[in-house]
Amino acid sequence: MTLDELRHIASTLDRDDPLAAYRERFHIPRRGDGSEVTYLCGNSLGLAPRAAAESVACELRAWAELGVEGHFQSERPWVSFHELFTPHLASLVGAKGHEVVAMNTLTVNLHLMLTSFYRPSGERRKVLVGHAAFPSDRYAIASQITLRGGKPEETLLVAQPRPGEATLRTEDVVELIDRHAWKLQLVLMDGVNYYTGEFIDIPTITAAAHRHGILAGFDLAHAVGNVPLALHDWGVDFAVWCHYKYLNGGPGCVAGCFVHERHGLAPEPLPRLAGWWGHDKQSRFVMGPDFRPIPGAEGWQLSNPPLFSLAALLPSLELFSEIGMAQLRAKSEHLTGLLDRGVREMFPDWIEILTPQEPSRRGCQLSVRLRHHAKSTFAALLAAGVICDWREPDVIRLAPVPLYNRFADVVRCVEVLSCAK
Ligand SMILES: *Cc1c(COP(=O)(O)O)cnc(C)c1O
Repeated sequence: MTLDELRHIASTLDRDDPLAAYRERFHIPRRGDGSEVTYLCGNSLGLAPRAAAESVACELRAWAELGVEGHFQSERPWVSFHELFTPHLASLVGAKGHEVVAMNTLTVNLHLMLTSFYRPSGERRKVLVGHAAFPSDRYAIASQITLRGGKPEETLLVAQPRPGEATLRTEDVVELIDRHAWKLQLVLMDGVNYYTGEFIDIPTITAAAHRHGILAGFDLAHAVGNVPLALHDWGVDFAVWCHYKYLNGGPGCVAGCFVHERHGLAPEPLPRLAGWWGHDKQSRFVMGPDFRPIPGAEGWQLSNPPLFSLAALLPSLELFSEIGMAQLRAKSEHLTGLLDRGVREMFPDWIEILTPQEPSRRGCQLSVRLRHHAKSTFAALLAAGVICDWREPDVIRLAPVPLYNRFADVVRCVEVLSCAK
């Protein structure tokens, strides 16, 4: 493929893109000269929806006008504000309403879930994790192991790619689970890995764990709003995610959590770290001493949530519900497919794509390894206004997202790469 061919394909795809108008719903950052950047970093921090400011301003006004009465008397009462998220989150992750909740931040939710679901006993103490786990997840699980008197280096079992390969094979993960089943208590993996962009086979890995009575939890930070998910049907035990990557909720935004109803509605509530916002809603304000959790994921809430962060997030979730993941995913496969094709065909000896090529095994993101001039190429991309990110030692992550990226953005990225070559 030549650059001209790429430009031609992209302009046709942009012209026929049914989601093209949604770009207008976002603020696209600008460069010094006033031109829009080519934003390929929605996997790290999604762009600001234009409607976010008014949504936050609305709650600021309610606070100014109503003070404490805003909890019950504002247009969107704060006491139940988080419930506005239920249908959106349930549809994004494929869950029942009582299986999801927006609360806290990602690593906090991971700790809350591990407190309830990592329960080593007898020989069953080990946790299976993926090879390129995000550091925060690794610290969280290691500290949970230490808190229970274990040693992380003896307790963590790490699934590795085969020599010469960058990503995992499902059959290898399943084989590892089968082989270590008697010692494993929990499988804790990323739905989409932040480093490689690999989308793992969640249902197969969950089923493999369950065959041996092992629990399966997932960090969906890079999966939610990116790939289709069906957590309830897949039987996943728990999941956590953040909302500031593909879901555009803004930096440090309130995160999400899924607890399968087999645990959330269990007759005997699971042990957990408790707070008043997780207490039965009818008797919360009786302020009694005994904790009775709300049935379902909401029973893991601790505090009344940061309202302005929730308010900033809601407009983006409404866009996801309006469009639906099926349409977003269809465009996403084309966008990433075009980037994949451009890079693969134009720079075969220079750039290696670490992310799997099959659409079913990846989301938006392509992680590329440059065999030479990696750092200077990254600098050239930034200088040309192509916002992407760098991961040591030689990997650049490029993520065209279907909600606001155009096929022309893919062209721009490939153009700059071909100049830097
Ligand atoms: C982005 C990300 C985090 C970040 O954690 P915060 O608690 O939101 O700061 C953690 N884990 C994974 C897998 C991530 O992708």
